[in-house]
Amino acid sequence: MNILVINCGSSSLKYQLIDMDTESVIAKGNCEKIGLPDAFHKYKPTGKDEVLFNGPFPTHLEAVESVLNALADSKIGVIKSLDEISAVGHRIVQGGSIFKGPAIVTDEVIEQIEDLASLAPLHNKAHAIGIRACRKELPDVPMVVVFDTSFHQTMPDYAYMYGIPYEMYEKGKIRRYGFHGTSHHYVALRTAEIMGKDLSELKLIICHLGNGSSITAIKNGKVIDTTMGLTPLDGLMMGTRCGAIDPAVIPFVMENFGVKPEELNDFMNKKCGMQGISGVSSDFRDLQAVKHENDRARLALDMFCYQAKKYIGGFIAALNGIDALVFTAGVGENDYDVREQITDDMDYLGIVLNKEKNHGLKAKESDLTGEGSKAKVYLVPTNEELMIARETLQMIGKKY
Ligand code: ADP
Repeated sequence: MNILVINCGSSSLKYQLIDMDTESVIAKGNCEKIGLPDAFHKYKPTGKDEVLFNGPFPTHLEAVESVLNALADSKIGVIKSLDEISAVGHRIVQGGSIFKGPAIVTDEVIEQIEDLASLAPLHNKAHAIGIRACRKELPDVPMVVVFDTSFHQTMPDYAYMYGIPYEMYEKGKIRRYGFHGTSHHYVALRTAEIMGKDLSELKLIICHLGNGSSITAIKNGKVIDTTMGLTPLDGLMMGTRCGAIDPAVIPFVMENFGVKPEELNDFMNKKCGMQGISGVSSDFRDLQAVKHENDRARLALDMFCYQAKKYIGGFIAALNGIDALVFTAGVGENDYDVREQITDDMDYLGIVLNKEKNHGLKAKESDLTGEGSKAKVYLVPTNEELMIARETLQMIGKKY
């Protein structure tokens, strides 16, 4: 049984076709620059060469057509006909307080996703467009939406509320939602499996550190706190996002640096973070490469690791101890220096890293627990697409 996992952005569409019998990717690809004259689609059947299709794809509909044509093509395709796609799982960024888990796509669900666009303007509108395009092309195939926010819906009110007038929460639904939920959930489940325990018995801290980063505290299978907030800007400083800053910085930069209201989102999301501090790059590889000669690159890395350490310490207090600290995503899986720096001098909190084993280790599931550590330390590679496919399968199993 094959499940097509789709992640639609405003001008892009990424996808994976996953064989659920073996949980392996049969083909994957991405369409970029949808709506622009130089739109393209890169298609990669597993074990074979990548194929490039040039657009134009005026809308997501033409992009979806190109994807389906490639998948079912008689020469380069991986399926004989579209009937071999049993379901489609769509990744959705914002599910608000409405979606506490995945949902089967209906007209009402699409409208609800659109209604939540005020909380994630760029993403949710694009997701709705993508779902409609897929439904047009695959009218008889069941579809499921899986939300980045759902896994965090178990947070208690005192963790998700902001200190602003309560009416703003009531009217505007302004609160912490948290993101990367699908990744945190996948990694938490896998960690429980590695530990031979049920997730419901464990206290975990998952560090999803990538271009976007978030840390989540999980108690007995339920998220009790996470670093991202109403939007993915909150929490850790990231590749180009500022992370949590004193809110008064914003009117200050508007007044003193001429940042206009309409430029604020771009400023906070694209001009700050590792890039803004280092002036070198948002990419951790570039920063690690020059940190001994470039003091601002060193500073950006020090800031990132220090902030992560503070969140972990805070979450250990909130959880009253942990069973495991887990690293995942681009930086968490590959940047062993970052893992070492974050966990350095944490023995008081019961965390000791096996530095020898950690050094040089990339993207390989590993137990990195050092001698004398009270908590386990793991590297667990994430797989959001597989998690979406699993949730999709579970949902259609329920319905059909
Ligand atoms: P996204 O948040 O876009 O999904 P990823 O989780 O893919 O990001 O992480 C991408 C980031 O991971 C890159 O910007 C880079 O900084 C970091 N990264 C990837 N590989 C390495 C590596 N070998 N060493 C250090 N950092 C790496």
